[in-house]
Amino acid sequence: MFKKILIANRGEIACRVIKTARRMGIKTVAVYSDADAQALHVREADEAVNIGPAPAAESYLVIDKIIEACKQTGAEAVHPGYGFLSENAKFAKKLKRAGITFIGPNVRAIEVMGDKIESKKFASKAKVSTVPGVLGVIENTKQAIEIAEEIGYPVMIKASAGGGGKGMRVAHAREDMAEGFRASMSEAKSSFGDDRVFIEKFIVDPRHIEIQVLADSHGNTIYLGERECSIQRRNQKVLEEAPSPFLDEETRRAMGEQAVALAKAVKYQSAGTVEFIVDRHKNFYFLEMNTRLQVEHPVTELITGVDLVEQMFRVAAGEKLKLKQDDIKLNGWAIESRIYAEDPVRGFLPSTGRLVRYRPPEEGGEEDGPVIRNDTGVFEGGEISIYYDPMIAKLCTHASDRQSAITHMSRALDAFYIEGIQHNISFLSALMRHPRWQSGDLSTGFIAEEYPDGFTGGELTDDLRATMVTVAAVLDHTENTRRRGITDQMGGRPVRFAVERVVHLAGQDHGVEIVEDGGPLLKVVHRDGGGDFAVQGVWVPGKPVWSGQINGRTANVQVTRILNGYRISHGGVPLDAYVFTKREAELASLMPEIEIADTSKFLLCPMPGLVVSIAVKEGQDIKAGESLCVVEAMKMENVLRAERDCTVAEIKCAPGDSLAVDEVIMEFS
Ligand code: ADP
Ligand code: ADP
Ligand code: MG
Repeated sequence: MFKKILIANRGEIACRVIKTARRMGIKTVAVYSDADAQALHVREADEAVNIGPAPAAESYLVIDKIIEACKQTGAEAVHPGYGFLSENAKFAKKLKRAGITFIGPNVRAIEVMGDKIESKKFASKAKVSTVPGVLGVIENTKQAIEIAEEIGYPVMIKASAGGGGKGMRVAHAREDMAEGFRASMSEAKSSFGDDRVFIEKFIVDPRHIEIQVLADSHGNTIYLGERECSIQRRNQKVLEEAPSPFLDEETRRAMGEQAVALAKAVKYQSAGTVEFIVDRHKNFYFLEMNTRLQVEHPVTELITGVDLVEQMFRVAAGEKLKLKQDDIKLNGWAIESRIYAEDPVRGFLPSTGRLVRYRPPEEGGEEDGPVIRNDTGVFEGGEISIYYDPMIAKLCTHASDRQSAITHMSRALDAFYIEGIQHNISFLSALMRHPRWQSGDLSTGFIAEEYPDGFTGGELTDDLRATMVTVAAVLDHTENTRRRGITDQMGGRPVRFAVERVVHLAGQDHGVEIVEDGGPLLKVVHRDGGGDFAVQGVWVPGKPVWSGQINGRTANVQVTRILNGYRISHGGVPLDAYVFTKREAELASLMPEIEIADTSKFLLCPMPGLVVSIAVKEGQDIKAGESLCVVEAMKMENVLRAERDCTVAEIKCAPGDSLAVDEVIMEFS
């Protein structure tokens, strides 16, 4: 086995790889850019080497700098993680030439699978079911239409060199072909410097289901079940689970065997993923093979008990796989939520800044009980910068069945407290409570279909309201009890003790009675018929999460102190709660509403970024929802839209300008 390896990556995946290396007694070397000098992966590694400026193109993507860092530290092998150089054949080739082991597949497998036309040809030769289509480069619109009509609409025009969901266009009829062909080709050219496109059948409302394979250099190849990743936004995965709620044993085996056949055909070694789309009738079609460790690999590890990174190390060191196909048993259910620095109610716009507070739920679990795993590369006080992927953490739960894994995910999300930047936890919580997600009726169009006008916040159900009213009353009671304790007003208090309060939440007043009777439980009686709740909680004022049992059910509620009240968040719904005595409530109802200062006359830049284009002119009348300009940040183009009808008074910047957060882009009148 290797004595020392280098991890050519950053963030959570670098930390993840280091964890297994440390367990196996392998020394680790981290590389880092100037922006990452304080990063977690640098702290976790035994050694660290600076490889240049913040932009990835000048650091994490520079092959020679990585090789130099290996030589300097004596690292014998390199784990590339995902993204960056992980699927770069030139990198694998150069490492080999330098006598350093690439912890991944052989160069030819990377090359063949990196090209969609080549890999599809390969797959059909290996008798893998591929999407019906024509495996040739399309030369012109006339030929494109001929082929589309042979296949039958709808079709997808795809860049052969494509990745990350780029260079793809759907055509539903002949009229769409000319534009689709042109757009796909030009996007392919600008993103990949390669304008070859081909055409395949567009599978309507498919599910994305992928097979994890593992192979050694001695010809042994196995598959470790599937992952379903149908919940996507912008062709990027948000939730993943293993197994898939859709597959039966027979389809699983058929997909697994085809994935293994494909891996064998390219003499694959290491861990890899064969992606399929699956239609409503369980017909499945090969999409592509990712020749690396996948972001969502933890769900497979949780249900198989196999450490994929350890297996990658062993295979790279020349060992034979000890696992046989029959050893792979799928145990229970695992779900992964990708926690991103982005604002779900503003079109998933990325957010950057400092993690003022970062309190993930506690990891671990009992033997045979539910498990919580949180793969992360950040820490409290750290920064989410504009330079890299905005993923903060991958929160996973593992339990005996799907419903239980969902319940534990909901609770874990409720307990995940992040302050300082926007994040998508409320969106993930809302997804967990979504009946269609719960029923397992998924497709890659899920988010677009269920949130056609974007996500506007989780739904406040009666259940959630009751829980939040109860917890607000308990928070207030806990603080009052503590105050009385400090001022020694507790003496002579009877064992049974009851107070009346009014909880003001989301525009409604709720009368409650809080009863103590000497035991550890508080009883909260809802006067409006909302029920009686026996509550036992753990919370000290100042802690960001209230945890406890409500009528025997575990609940976590996030708490932030605000003036005269609490901002509490549960099930993805954040609300302000005020707890009054009856008299205070009467007076509060007479108070005038505070008017919020009006900043809506300005369009402010929501994150540091580059102005790509401006869609409006001074003096133009705009309707709510119309796009105003495009700002690029974190490798993504973000369209900023008008929040209400208005007229553009003045535009304060031009395409090409670099803006700071909150800088004025334009003023309205
Ligand atoms: P997975 O399939 O493992 O969920 P993706 O295929 O979406 O992940 O990509 C994995 C990582 O690679 C992500 O961090 C993503 O940002 C990066 N990535 C994907 N495609 C590209 C590309 N064409 N160029 C650069 N990075 C990419
Ligand atoms: P990339 O290399 O960009 O990840 P993929 O070929 O893996 O490209 O496709 C990405 C996503 O696009 C899939 O997960 C699926 O949602 C959708 N997709 C790709 N091809 C098709 C198709 N033929 N029909 C329907 N959806 C497709
Ligand atoms: Mg893909």
